[in-house]
Amino acid sequence: MSGPVQPVDAAVEQGPLARIDVREGRSTTVGGVPISRVLPTKGRRTVGPWCFVDLILPPDFDDPHPLEVGPHPHIGLATVTWLLAGEALHTDSLGSEQPIKPGQLNLMSAGDGIAHAELGTSEGIHGIQMWLAQPEGTRHGPSRFEHIPDLPVADLPGAEVKIMIGGLDDLASPALVDWPTVGLDISLRGGRAEIPTDPEFEYAVIPIDHNLKIDDAIVEPGWLALVPVGAESLPIEASADRARLLVLGGSPLGEPIEMWWNFVARSKEEITEAWRAWQTHDLDRFGPVSSKLARIDAPPPPWRATR
Ligand code: MN
Repeated sequence: MSGPVQPVDAAVEQGPLARIDVREGRSTTVGGVPISRVLPTKGRRTVGPWCFVDLILPPDFDDPHPLEVGPHPHIGLATVTWLLAGEALHTDSLGSEQPIKPGQLNLMSAGDGIAHAELGTSEGIHGIQMWLAQPEGTRHGPSRFEHIPDLPVADLPGAEVKIMIGGLDDLASPALVDWPTVGLDISLRGGRAEIPTDPEFEYAVIPIDHNLKIDDAIVEPGWLALVPVGAESLPIEASADRARLLVLGGSPLGEPIEMWWNFVARSKEEITEAWRAWQTHDLDRFGPVSSKLARIDAPPPPWRATR
């Protein structure tokens, strides 16, 4: 469920945030599935290491969309797959073949290069596809994949919190990430809760099914609220008693990233190299993927002359 990243997604340089900042998502489709892209957003490429968030919109039951994303490459990022409904099958060039259901985590770190495919194995897929930018220390390294079927759940006053990545209170996800990161799937029970935060982290709050109020900021499903470093907690109020949301955060990455198509790097030259390796079927960099779906060709990078 990776999505091509267009230059428009990250057109403006990142600056510091003085307060909670609400941004609208952008509607598009990936593999035939309608999505709202909430990150990157105008002027903002990363929140902690999180650099890409696509919400797969709830299925239209009269017109269910199949999820069919054929083999395609990644570099310099980890894909975080989180389903809310439906089931999918992940295959990759490490030889992984892994079904995933709601509540389970698929985490695939690309390093220098990996290829994978995603096939919906049920109708009505609804979920979130996220990427973490890998830091300099690991982004040129080996790729890896892990599937975590059972994640810890924190019981807070007013909220049940599934810990996808990182920690909350005394609980920690076993997911292996390369940078101080947190990813929480929060179910409110009584319309409000106070989520403890790390003041050294910046955060994105992403409503899934109802409007939320964070401090004084109102944020709708398909949008995100950006919370700068320094917060001791996030007071969240929902427009319904039972509401679901994601809280994603981490230490600011501290280095600008370059994103295009399915690649995260630090320069256009690195991306052009990865593009060429994929287009020339360089199996040393991007190995074969077992999938009945067609391989996805990369478009030429826009900065490369194509006369
Ligand atoms: Mn992908």
